[in-house]
Amino acid sequence: MSFRKNYLTRPIHKWAKGALPALSDTEAEAISAGDVHFEAELFSGNPDWKMLRDMKAPRLTEEEQAFLEGPCRQFCDMLDSWEIDHGTADLPKEAWDFLREKGFFGMIIPKDHGGLGFSAFAHSEVVRYISSHSIAGAVTVMVPNSLGPGELILQFGTDAQKKDWLPRLASGQELPAFGLTSEQAGSDASAMIDEGVICKGDWNGEEVLGIRLNWAKRYITLAPVCTVLGLAFKLRDPDGLLGTEPDIGITCALVPTDLPGVETGRRHLPSGTMFMNGPTTGTDVFVPLDHIIGGPDYAGRGWMMLMSALAAGRGISLPSQSAAACAMAAHTTGAYTRIRQQFGLPIGLFGGVQEPLARIAANAYAVDAGRRLTCAALDEGHKLAVISAIMKYHATTRMRESVTDAMDVHSGKAVIDGPLNYIQPIYRSIPIGITVEGANIVTRNLIIFGQGSIRAHPHLLDEMQALGEPDPDKSLDAFDKHFWRHVGHSTKTFFRAWGSAWTGRGKAPKGAGKVAWIYRRLSRWSAAFAVTSDMAFLTLGGALKRKEMITARLGDALSEMYLLSAVLKRWEDEGRHKDDLPLVEYCAAQAFARIGQALDETIANFPARWVSWLLRPTLLPGSHARGPSDRTAEKVAMALYNPTDTRARVTAGLYTPEPDTGLGLLEHAYRLVLEAEPLTKRLREIRKTPEEAREAGVLSKTEFAQLERMQEAVRRVVAVDDFTPQEMAEMFPDYRPNPANPAPKEAAE
Ligand SMILES: Cc1cc2nc3c(=O)[nH]c(=O)nc-3n(C[C@H](O)[C@H](O)[C@H](O)COP(=O)(O)OP(=O)(O)OC[C@H]3O[C@@H](n4cnc5c(N)ncnc54)[C@H](O)[C@@H]3O)c2cc1C
Repeated sequence: MSFRKNYLTRPIHKWAKGALPALSDTEAEAISAGDVHFEAELFSGNPDWKMLRDMKAPRLTEEEQAFLEGPCRQFCDMLDSWEIDHGTADLPKEAWDFLREKGFFGMIIPKDHGGLGFSAFAHSEVVRYISSHSIAGAVTVMVPNSLGPGELILQFGTDAQKKDWLPRLASGQELPAFGLTSEQAGSDASAMIDEGVICKGDWNGEEVLGIRLNWAKRYITLAPVCTVLGLAFKLRDPDGLLGTEPDIGITCALVPTDLPGVETGRRHLPSGTMFMNGPTTGTDVFVPLDHIIGGPDYAGRGWMMLMSALAAGRGISLPSQSAAACAMAAHTTGAYTRIRQQFGLPIGLFGGVQEPLARIAANAYAVDAGRRLTCAALDEGHKLAVISAIMKYHATTRMRESVTDAMDVHSGKAVIDGPLNYIQPIYRSIPIGITVEGANIVTRNLIIFGQGSIRAHPHLLDEMQALGEPDPDKSLDAFDKHFWRHVGHSTKTFFRAWGSAWTGRGKAPKGAGKVAWIYRRLSRWSAAFAVTSDMAFLTLGGALKRKEMITARLGDALSEMYLLSAVLKRWEDEGRHKDDLPLVEYCAAQAFARIGQALDETIANFPARWVSWLLRPTLLPGSHARGPSDRTAEKVAMALYNPTDTRARVTAGLYTPEPDTGLGLLEHAYRLVLEAEPLTKRLREIRKTPEEAREAGVLSKTEFAQLERMQEAVRRVVAVDDFTPQEMAEMFPDYRPNPANPAPKEAAE
């Protein structure tokens, strides 16, 4: 045995066995359910920029493009958000039929099973497009194509299940829902008490081996109308009918909702957004063993299956919905700041408004960049466990920021609800995105770095697997190999991080042009992040899992680096538009400030003080970046305020509204305001109202009429809804005006 192994590795191996958390079989299986992509490069401290730049930009096929322009458009035309959320509480029947007829529920199902066989990017574009018009419509389409029976059968189903179920799911003959959450089991699915017991039972007149199920799930999207539930439950085999293990573990099965004992139909009201969502219960429901997704071999492997399915779905649905919300905030707020005047000027010319407007623009650009990069990686066949968590959290968080910024800027116009209000439906839906598919706090604190680090770190998983090896000699051998590779890697990274922090220069790819400085700084932060992470593993070991404020900040740094890499990729893929450069620079300055702060706070809060003394002067010499300058923010805000190419790119691919809707009126008014700009400028210069200018002969009759048309269009946008008592009573059947209050005039007459 070598000297190194015997005298150095052995004691470290012994220490590490106690310090690092042992991976349970379930955890190990769940971790291996996804794979890594560019985030692993960022984790390495030395990102391979070529890998990023060589990735193909996502593109739609002709068929996918035609679907977007045809059926998607037609579906949206059938939906009126106000009517759905305040009147019918459901999509119109013709819309449900249309979804089935055109195959919306089978976008992810391959063509040979009767589905549309769309790419991840096409799927995402469809969700983004519909979300820009109707959240209820988008959620209805999202769920069957996301985590649920379709995805699970595709990934794990037996051939017989694929043949039997996929064509019926694709055609919409079967409508699926996925039931995981219950009262006890929210973020912690392992707490569920929903149970299946292996037993014999009657199935089509024959006695077969199967499962007797009892459950009480809540919050389940599409549960009130679904025909089949993908049900997660804990499987037990107390009589040893399957083997020797009495507690088999979390299992997923297909449960038709017309079986005796299944209850569906009751509804929740999710944040006033009236898609189908509700509880479901099951009492002694019997299904044969072949209803386990993947068959009996997959009994007890439900957690791994869920993690794997989440890795695909979580990277698409909510990021696409969020990208739509961010783009809508940009589209509407940019236009509104141009048409709305106060103190004699369009409000977009005030610095106080430009500040949120710039944030809105940057979020729209960055979230969509992240969505595109993530879809491109999914379309390469990756199952992005870490990136999908990054996208879920950051896309929905930035959506919240953008939409509340849009609310602030629109002020009263956005507060007063009614058919004319184009922001409220998006605003109401924010908590849904924040909560579902991994509530955001747990996603930020526990999942992105807490679980992601094991996956994305270049050596950690290998070391943990070596420590988990039951044969002590083999364990030591494997640990010796991976540990010393880790040491070599960390040493190089430490010196790289130190050097680049002090010189401010990391590595940039050749030909990066005007954004070379961004690559350089990103490389610098990637090295600093890798060193800080290693120090966290070294000094905290298994306790790191419980230090959530530290893992959250490290996750923030990783996520900001990922999103900024996506921004650089987008800029390259779109042809390096000079006009978009301020936006890219804004995103970079914002990301560097956030990364600097996240690492600064992490280092300040290391329980071992010597780590702070070592890392601060090495990685954070001087003060770190401040965020975007006012000059950059102003340029970015103006790119949304004016009808620029940047504005067109940031807001491309959204539903074009009917002219008489709130959004249609806004677009019309924006166009008229722009067309009348030379006239309004002239009036400002001569300090006259249109009437005074006409009387003074400075404005022709045609010009005056043009201004009148423009002013009327603006008035219609700025207008908000109000309702008569009768209309109120229609909306709220129990509404009773207080007889003590003065009656409305016409009622009194
Ligand atoms: C509209 C809607 C639709 C849904 N659709 C479905 C569906 O179709 N199928 C389905 O199965 N489920 C669905 N869900 C359930 C959803 O996934 C859960 O609500 C979510 O997992 C959170 O569970 P909870 O609400 O019980 O919150 P809890 O788990 O009680 O969490 C409360 C808070 O604590 C935080 N938290 C919990 N643990 C930790 C931790 N370790 N560290 C840090 N923070 C933590 C959470 O982030 C959250 O902020 C839906 C929910 C909603 C609201």
